[in-house]
Order: sequence, then C-alpha cells, then structure tokens
Amino acid sequence: MPFIAREEPFVCENCQTFVEPLGKGSYRNHCPACLFSKHVDAEGPGDRASVCKGLMKPVSLDFRSNKGWMIIHVCNVCFKKIPNKTAPDDNIVKFSDPSSVY
Ligand SMILES: [Zn+2]
Ligand SMILES: [Zn+2]
Repeated sequence: MPFIAREEPFVCENCQTFVEPLGKGSYRNHCPACLFSKHVDAEGPGDRASVCKGLMKPVSLDFRSNKGWMIIHVCNVCFKKIPNKTAPDDNIVKFSDPSSVY
C-alpha cells in the first residue's frame, strides 16, 4: 500500500501491526500499537499532499484543552513536526514506560 488511506486498514511500516480503521467519521493516521505515523500530510491533517512519505516517530505528548491529548510526530526524513489527535485505542502509556525504546 503506497500510503495510509482514510477508513482503510493498513499495515504499520514500523511494527507490522495490521491496523483496522476507526470508522464513525474519524480516521487514524498512526499505528495504535507503536504510535508511528507516516508523512502523508503537507499542511494540515488529512490533506494527503506530502510527497515525503517518511516514517514519523512519536516524540512527545501534548495536552490541548480544546482537543485533548495530541501526539507530536517528527518525520524521520525531513524532520517536520506534526501534532496528531490520539485515538481511543492508542497505546499512549508507552510514553510513561521508561523501558520503551524510541
Ligand atoms: Zn506500529
Ligand atoms: Zn517528511
């Protein structure tokens, strides 16, 4: 699969988890198991305009009062930083586990 499409299952390029779509109008752009994402958006979430396609590594969590928890992703290729909304089944406890390696 060349890119992560909305509402379609995909296989994570970092941990090879098979990821099911969320449905109900929301889409996911990162893996719920390892939280890696892919650089497919250029200017905003969902625009799919990026030509980079680099793997994006989760580097931190940020709490926004209007949006809730955001995962800050940094692209492995071009180092662009993009905040992403967390999904209900994201494994965000990974960030509080000092033994997890990123
Ligand atoms: Zn993964
Ligand atoms: Zn990139």
